[in-house]
Amino acid sequence: MAIASVNPATGETIKTFEPLSSQQLDVKLQLAADTFGDYRRTSFTEREKKIVRAADILETDKQQFARVMTTEMGKPIKSAVQEVEKCASACRYYAEHAKDHLADQIIQTNAAKSYVHFQPLGPVLAVMPWNFPFWQVFRFAAPALMAGNVGLLKHASNVPQCSLAIEDIFRRAGFPNGAFQALLIGSDAVQQILEDRRVVAATLTGSESAGRSVASIAGKHIKKTVLELGGSDPFIVMPSANLDDAATTAVKARTINNGQSCIAAKRFIVATEVYDEFAERFVAGMRALRVGDPMQEDTEIGPLATPQILKDLEEQVNKSVAAGAVILTGGKRLSQRGNFYEPTVLANISHQAPAYCEELFGPVGLLFRVDTIHEAIQIANDTDFGLGAAAWSNSESEIGRCVDEIESGLVFINGIVASDPRLPFGGVKHSGYGRELGEFGIREFVNIKTVWIA
Ligand code: NAP
Repeated sequence: MAIASVNPATGETIKTFEPLSSQQLDVKLQLAADTFGDYRRTSFTEREKKIVRAADILETDKQQFARVMTTEMGKPIKSAVQEVEKCASACRYYAEHAKDHLADQIIQTNAAKSYVHFQPLGPVLAVMPWNFPFWQVFRFAAPALMAGNVGLLKHASNVPQCSLAIEDIFRRAGFPNGAFQALLIGSDAVQQILEDRRVVAATLTGSESAGRSVASIAGKHIKKTVLELGGSDPFIVMPSANLDDAATTAVKARTINNGQSCIAAKRFIVATEVYDEFAERFVAGMRALRVGDPMQEDTEIGPLATPQILKDLEEQVNKSVAAGAVILTGGKRLSQRGNFYEPTVLANISHQAPAYCEELFGPVGLLFRVDTIHEAIQIANDTDFGLGAAAWSNSESEIGRCVDEIESGLVFINGIVASDPRLPFGGVKHSGYGRELGEFGIREFVNIKTVWIA
């Protein structure tokens, strides 16, 4: 894939970039290794000042960063601004808490003193996706830098200007040049970096196939990885739920980021008693969404990020319909320039349909009718993915069963699944492993060193 900014709302190529040569890459890896030698010795107070400055820059220039995101990948400008604000909040969270999360932990043994000491690992490669082009990077970078690691960013090839803007933010914030570097490279250059002795670990947010590739190469070289992969989150609605809230949230949860979110609710599993009413409200909500120019403040759904994503989604819907699915609204691309797809709802989805087992990365909601909570949980778990899950119910026993039995890394009751700097985030099954954010996130890329003193 060429490294280029192509506006998904118009198809216009704005700027193209030459990938780094092997030699240029080598210089950057050496700079990262050299910088780590000094940076690892800086105090939490020093790092804290810099990460707070990064938060200040994000907040001051949020409109400008939001425009870069919207131009490159098409998210509505309003949500792009919110994304920048959220990045600042992650920086501030780790500025405040990194020291506590990584403080020595005394453990009583037969030694005079024994404790756990957390140390940074070194240069970490972050392979990142385009869908939240700032947030995905900051939720890796803020804890990694606060822990004393240095970062190397291989961003998705369609968001090079986001990648360069983030590098610039850290530089302006006062981090040394080698502490966070953007590498403009294609995915074919990732293997070479993973095999390089100077790079000690990797994190990848993206598709299952990219995760498999990165983890297998890193595994061969005994390097730690964190994988944040795809999802097909269930959204269960039981009869005791507040249907107004559930239906309104369902529309938002399915269409956030133009439907291109790993934790978007994708499968709506609804008890038969409330199915018809929920379906009616959900379909009406999806139909009412304002689709259009993502630079307009009142646009709710912009274009999909690339023509390939549009083509893939179209194929998944068409094949699902051929396998028996019924279109309740939408079901096709818009006949205008740009990668626009109508907000869509499908019902009667058979086990053979791609919609049943694959992730649909666009504004397409899938409805399932169930008789019992048992059946709802069965369908929720009948997927290779296990990222987030939402359940709407006011029954204690149903809530208890959802919390216990849904196979996912996150479960939200009567609310929308969302990441939060204070809470760990990550999946199980093919959605990946490891955690980002909170205390668990900052401990992924540290040496948990046992110290024992007689
Ligand atoms: P993708 O194609 O896997 O791309 C993600 C990143 O991986 C890009 O930087 C890409 O580079 C790189 N990449 C692709 N193939 C690679 C390979 N074989 N080796 C090394 N790097 C490789 O994913 P996407 O389609 O852009 O992103 C959407 C996916 O990400 C969805 O499945 C979504 O659910 C998932 N996601 C998960 C989370 C989470 O937290 N769990 C969050 C957001 C998104 P190029 O652009 O150069 O190909």
